[in-house]
Amino acid sequence: MLKILKFGGTSVGSATSLKSIFDIINNNHKNNHTLFVICSAINEITNKLLKSGCLAKNKNTTYKEILNEISDNHISMVKQLIDIDYQSNTIIKIDILLKNLNEVLHGIFLAGELSTKSQDLLLSFGEQLSCTIIADFLVNKGLPAKFVDSRTLIKTNSNFTNAQVEVEITNTNINNFGATINYIPIITGFIASNQENETTTLGRGGSDYTASIIGAGINANIIEIWTDVDGVMTSDPKIVKTARSIPFLTYREAIALSHFGAKIIYLPTLYPASAKKIPIYIKNTFNPHHNGTLIAAKNDINLTNHDLIKGISVIDNVAIINIEGTDISNNKPDILDKISKSLAINDTNIVLITQFLSEYSVCIATIASYAKLVEQFLNQEFSQDIELGRVNKIVAETGYSLISVVGENMQKQLGLAGKLFSACGNNGINIRAISQGSLDLSLSAVISSTFLDKALNTIHEAFFAENK
Ligand code: ASP
Ligand code: MG
Repeated sequence: MLKILKFGGTSVGSATSLKSIFDIINNNHKNNHTLFVICSAINEITNKLLKSGCLAKNKNTTYKEILNEISDNHISMVKQLIDIDYQSNTIIKIDILLKNLNEVLHGIFLAGELSTKSQDLLLSFGEQLSCTIIADFLVNKGLPAKFVDSRTLIKTNSNFTNAQVEVEITNTNINNFGATINYIPIITGFIASNQENETTTLGRGGSDYTASIIGAGINANIIEIWTDVDGVMTSDPKIVKTARSIPFLTYREAIALSHFGAKIIYLPTLYPASAKKIPIYIKNTFNPHHNGTLIAAKNDINLTNHDLIKGISVIDNVAIINIEGTDISNNKPDILDKISKSLAINDTNIVLITQFLSEYSVCIATIASYAKLVEQFLNQEFSQDIELGRVNKIVAETGYSLISVVGENMQKQLGLAGKLFSACGNNGINIRAISQGSLDLSLSAVISSTFLDKALNTIHEAFFAENK
């Protein structure tokens, strides 16, 4: 079987966790699976790199302290993981990387400027360092592993910090690469390169995406994302104590859950895998025998055990904006057209749009930090209508949370909205707006953030208690 194994920041974060990674890779290797391993930077290193870059840009020499910390983190890892006789070889490679990193930071310091292009180059050191150590560690433990720089495989446009993949050339590169290797490649996640071979990155959390790009490119049988939780949970376990791991999700459910705020995996990861129908397993490096969550196509999942609702996700900082006025129903197309323009300026940040039955108002929920922007834009768009008294002045109200229940089987159960309403009503939680996703995949409610914990527990209880 051809398998992609991806290990995240906490999975590569300590000598103990790396030993567990060795076992996972070794077991797969012994079972004769062909493996492509993708790793993130060590836990927190990407943030430290960014912090040092910001300090350097501000001509603050304490960036050097962070650089020393980064250096210590990696050197100590080498010392803990690799037999003493073999350490110097790895330390030489790490020193070269650290020297280059120092030069990049010094350049940022001198220029007093951190462009998105130099930011990507700066952040790329996290994955270069971690994968260099992991590859040498695995070799030291007897596996035929080798460091591979993903910048030679994944080509993107020049949209630094969030580059878009050039799929055709990337797939050709991956296939050519896959055809020649006779070792286990330890591939840097997150980083790629543009046509000019400058370093780009795929967005924060992008190592998951690297796994999916490589998996789709090579037509892998399975993609395993190894993280630090037992798969995707029915709700945030920090708030809902009875939250449990979800055994199966369809791609659409996983996309909806992440769209509505669940931190499953980096959202773009789901697209290449779902296009090629490659199952994704989310597994726990620290509890490897737990089944975790399987994300696959609907037909590939045993539906008999399906819960009607799979999970409840939250976006906890939303604002609501009402567009109200007596004339709204008469000018519906015009009004919706103006609203959709505001959606276009900030498409991913508008999380819900709903029209009340009275048709006197349309309600938008947006991520709170964008609320002012959307408010301004809408007031400008509707300025004439506001002057004529046809539409009220538009005001964004903050302090709300958006709770969404997600599940493909939802359409099979009547009265789900009613269940949500009555669960909240019986517990004194006022729902400000509600919206059923157009594909019957989700149902969302906007509530005051003060009630978030109570609402989540109440709704979780209402939907999951009988399925326990
Ligand atoms: N190291 C990168 C980040 O922290 C990519 C990743 O971990 O997936 O965003
Ligand atoms: Mg991640």
